[in-house]
Amino acid sequence: MTDQKTNMSDGYIKNLLFPVKCPFCRRIADPRRIEEAGVCEKCAGLDLFYKKADVLPHEALEKILKLYVPMRYSGEAKKAMLRYKFSGEEWLCGPFATLMHNFLSVSGGYDDIDVITWVPVGGKRFAVRGYDQSGLVARRLSESSGIPFRKLLRRNDGTGNTMTSSRNYALRQAETRFSPLDPSVKLYGSRILLVDDIFTTGSTLNECGGILLSMGALYVNAACLMSGRQDIYDAGEETA
Ligand SMILES: [Zn+2]
Repeated sequence: MTDQKTNMSDGYIKNLLFPVKCPFCRRIADPRRIEEAGVCEKCAGLDLFYKKADVLPHEALEKILKLYVPMRYSGEAKKAMLRYKFSGEEWLCGPFATLMHNFLSVSGGYDDIDVITWVPVGGKRFAVRGYDQSGLVARRLSESSGIPFRKLLRRNDGTGNTMTSSRNYALRQAETRFSPLDPSVKLYGSRILLVDDIFTTGSTLNECGGILLSMGALYVNAACLMSGRQDIYDAGEETA
């Protein structure tokens, strides 16, 4: 009883000092609404959300079994993603994860998944940004779903690379942008949900999916926050 009272007054004061805003229109919003839905009522009615989950252009994703994309990479959603990735608005991981969690929940996206992992940023980008945007979302999806999350991949951006020849380095960069974080890790038939921020060509998801399969994953599904691809949108509209 005392705890509950304390939490309520803490929440009240916190909301006065740091009012909760909608991630898209940035207007002050009902904190409970943002916590539960990730977006204000007005923006929820905007044409920014896909209605159907696992409809995907299969030819683009040979290493990924199913793809889940809740939001279109356009308009206010795109602006919010750019603020998340490049303007230090780390708090957006909360509403974004909520939107993704709700989408996965209603789409069966957590069914038959053993581990949640993500497409990591490289060391250089992490040093600039201070956070790994898809990792933060993956952690929250894990907390919400109860499915464990684990960092399994690393991005090869040259930080900590011991290669001395720049030519060899360039060759290696062209070949593999990602590798297992720990080559000794075996996934033993685990069913993986791979989290990423934006789905464009699918090359990143394919590369990461292929690595996870080579580590022993049974299959890899992908959850990307946004995509600007019209083919996903069309497929979603047809089946909605
Ligand atoms: Zn809004």
